[in-house]
Amino acid sequence: MTDSTRLRIAVQKKGRLSDESLKLLKAIGVKLSIRDRLLIAHSTNLPIDLLLVRDDDIPGLVMDGIADLGFIGENELEEKMLERQAANEPAEYQLLKRLEYGGCRLSIAVPNEFDYKGLESFEGKRIATTYPQLLKRYLQENNVNASPVMLTGSVEVAPRAGIADAICDLVSTGATLEANGLYEAIEIFQSKAVLIQKDGALEENKQELVDTLLPRINGVMQAKESKYIMLHAPKAKLEQVKDLLPGAENPTVLPLSGNDDQVAIHVVSKENLFWVTMEQLKQLGCTSILVMPIEKMMG
Ligand code: ATP
Ligand code: MG
Repeated sequence: MTDSTRLRIAVQKKGRLSDESLKLLKAIGVKLSIRDRLLIAHSTNLPIDLLLVRDDDIPGLVMDGIADLGFIGENELEEKMLERQAANEPAEYQLLKRLEYGGCRLSIAVPNEFDYKGLESFEGKRIATTYPQLLKRYLQENNVNASPVMLTGSVEVAPRAGIADAICDLVSTGATLEANGLYEAIEIFQSKAVLIQKDGALEENKQELVDTLLPRINGVMQAKESKYIMLHAPKAKLEQVKDLLPGAENPTVLPLSGNDDQVAIHVVSKENLFWVTMEQLKQLGCTSILVMPIEKMMG
């Protein structure tokens, strides 16, 4: 059942971006009923349908206008864009928002015994990768003549299997590289998850919905970074206390009943409060110092 009046959002069905993308949709008020193995999921409270697909398919679905929006890693998006440009296929999209999850880097890694002395070490070498376009662009920009070898999986075993001299793969902690006797030689691309929209204008009702949802995404992201801080402070030390609180230009200062020497301070901070700062506040005579997460923010 498809309905062209409903906003279609492409999301990775299973994998590293899936949970965070669904969590974000939930946080901005999109209720979903997801049943296993189905390609499409309907929102139960908003005119939104999710297309649950492999991440490789998301950029193409948006560039072809089949999905209105898509949550995708920049690595996959950029690779698909270069691939489509090379093939003269539609490769347009609009970037709506860079998100805070899915962080990773695309790096060239080499076996521990490889004598890496700089980019020239790759001259004439074969580099196995799932991202041949991004690798080719990097090699060209840096005037290195190496040959990308396309592999869709198990890239990290390619050197041991004699398929390639080095690999170009996604890294976040480097543990997989280490486990395979490889080390990171050079980072070529940094990536995070992004929200993209198809090129061209959306139908009016869909645009209205996007205009409602985007500020909510900003609100969720802002809230994640922010904290609500409450404490009791000696009146005499108020200025020193304010100086220690991050982003506390205009804190709420409230009287404490039955205690004329102390006040309660409430402040929304854009940063977390470090232990060291809390200890300094305590030394100034502050008590009941609470740091609380904020769920949503607006205005
Ligand atoms: P699919 O079955 O959907 O094709 P996949 O195996 O291609 O899944 P995942 O491993 O789920 O993909 O990774 C999806 C995206 O998550 C990557 O393209 C990248 O943007 C991001 N990502 C974040 N950290 C990492 C990491 N350490 N390794 C790989 N990808 C990561
Ligand atoms: Mg994939």
